[in-house]
Amino acid sequence: MIDEKEGIIMRKFIPLSIPNFEGNEKKYVDDAIDQGWVSTGGAYITKLEQEMAKFLNVENVAACQSGTSALHLSLVEAGVKPGDVVLVPPLTFIAAVNPVKYQFAIPVFIDCDDSFCLDPIKLRSFCEEECEWDGEVLKHNGGTVKALVVVHVFGNMADMESIMDTAKKYNLKVIEDATEALGTHYTEGRYAGKYAGTIGDFGCYSFNGNKIITTGGGGAVTSNNPSTVDHIRFLSTQAKTDPHYYIHDEVGYNYRMTNLQAALGVAQMEELPEFIRRKQKNYEKYKELFDGFEYGALMPFREGTSSNKWFYSINIDRSKITAAMREIIIACHDKGFETRAIWGLINEQKPYEGEETYKLEKAPYYASRILNIPASTQITEDEIQYVAEQVKLLLGSLANG
Ligand SMILES: *Cc1c(COP(=O)(O)O)cnc(C)c1O
Repeated sequence: MIDEKEGIIMRKFIPLSIPNFEGNEKKYVDDAIDQGWVSTGGAYITKLEQEMAKFLNVENVAACQSGTSALHLSLVEAGVKPGDVVLVPPLTFIAAVNPVKYQFAIPVFIDCDDSFCLDPIKLRSFCEEECEWDGEVLKHNGGTVKALVVVHVFGNMADMESIMDTAKKYNLKVIEDATEALGTHYTEGRYAGKYAGTIGDFGCYSFNGNKIITTGGGGAVTSNNPSTVDHIRFLSTQAKTDPHYYIHDEVGYNYRMTNLQAALGVAQMEELPEFIRRKQKNYEKYKELFDGFEYGALMPFREGTSSNKWFYSINIDRSKITAAMREIIIACHDKGFETRAIWGLINEQKPYEGEETYKLEKAPYYASRILNIPASTQITEDEIQYVAEQVKLLLGSLANG
């Protein structure tokens, strides 16, 4: 839009990642309200579960209230008990690790590789060198190493071939946090055609507002064992065993998705392939624009996979730019677009100070370097061009010497 008086181009603020409701969202939510099914029962919940299962090529999916609850239920189902050890990532959203604390288990932070996901070599050496293996149980400082949480960060697939080899060798349950990687799948190798979240024992998804599809708040769990998913669904609805009497043989949770959320989700699932297509196309555009830029590089996604390319990351060259991330983010905001820093390390957050870490090198390295740039599905080519140009100008002006 052109401001006539000033004669300058006025831009709409470009957000980092906002939801997109171009499809049947209103229609389905209205329908759920008209039918009076707004809570944890209703046809949209089942429909969403079926659509997810079809998309992921799995048998059974349980819809729940958030990605966090999906992760918590997976840990419960994996048998993680107080005092057990769970291997977790240092560089991701803290919700991937908090459920370990809900179970009074002990997190050990293992470094990431250049995909920001769990480093399979360090995972292996931790199991071999820091643990005792008796042929059935892996022990670390007296605790049983029960499970590991693998996060597919920003839509990138973790190196699942190596990770699964180690997990199988040492009897570890693998919980995939695929909340950022719905639609990411292998195109080559042992897992060709397999989607993030469908390779380990459990796969967790989130439909929070900034994810590739959203239900406002919501999530889902799948497992390689369909009856495990049934049990997760049972636990998520207060573990009520009798249709007429209030009988509960286990401690349940109020973790079920509502029909209102699911109505939104069914509409979003219809659009998911198009959202992925746009994310991929926009990534290519940014890639062209950052090609050869000397102060920062657009991070790639793993070879042999097709990523949903949910989030884009600029790796700032810290040998030339020492400005604080806060300064960069504020400067971008002043230019009319939103950016963010990758997360602070979870092992440095208050509730996790003093927890054990293993060979953290890449995680702190990337924590100080990665800037995420606008990635909404609605972003226009012109806006991408503007963002890239402004980021390049800004980083250029901040470079030393
Ligand atoms: C968003 C996110 C979660 C949490 O999902 P909620 O639905 O917000 O509970 C967990 N892990 C990762 C990696 C996420 O990005």
